[in-house]
Amino acid sequence: MTVKTMKAYILLGAPGAGKGTVAARLVGQEPLVHVSTGDMLREAVKEGRPVGLRAKAFMEKGELVPDDVILGIVRERIERDAGQKNYLFDGFPRTHEQARGLDDTLASFGARVNGVFLLSVPDAVLVDRLSGRRVCQGCGAVYHVRNMPPRIEGICDRCGGALVQRPDDREETVRNRLVVYRRQTEELIAYYRERGLLFEIDASGNPDVTVAGVRKRMAAV
Ligand code: AMP
Repeated sequence: MTVKTMKAYILLGAPGAGKGTVAARLVGQEPLVHVSTGDMLREAVKEGRPVGLRAKAFMEKGELVPDDVILGIVRERIERDAGQKNYLFDGFPRTHEQARGLDDTLASFGARVNGVFLLSVPDAVLVDRLSGRRVCQGCGAVYHVRNMPPRIEGICDRCGGALVQRPDDREETVRNRLVVYRRQTEELIAYYRERGLLFEIDASGNPDVTVAGVRKRMAAV
């Protein structure tokens, strides 16, 4: 089925740029489905699904999961709504191959990428944000040991679950993720810039300001 009104937006940014936070606020303010390949993979690992078993080793090392796995879960996700929704992709695409695959998938629904928002943040801020990040094992709520601490150390305010550090937020893995990010993203930035779809947004400050910047651009594309 072809739905001409379906729109697709992409949030690009280094690990720690705030893609998850910005996406969560955006979907509260705009009619968008948030598609985070990182969240989908973590869920698949937790549930012990075959996709999760394939992805786990790559994720623990901070390496990219193979493109065919990623494109498979994204296509499945879009097919679930039969292309009837607007999507905000977060953490995807990460490679040139994934960008082309996304174009093909969207084209099969009569859609295309409408806008790509690059969240820019200096490296020192990224490392600090990631190594201090703690996630609730129960509900997935995100905290930061200094910038956004829970009321009781190690305990989620929302559900009382234990707060843990994601294995890939350990400092040595963070550094590797930043190296991988830079290597892979240059070509993506070029890919979307050439098509006039790339908009750079300063994401080093308050997330509300970043969200307002993205929404303003979104309304114009
Ligand atoms: P994230 O939560 O987006 O930082 O993703 C966590 C990890 O999941 C990454 O370090 C990769 O191992 C894997 N991953 C998530 N999205 C992708 C993607 N689009 N392509 C390849 N690997 C991915």
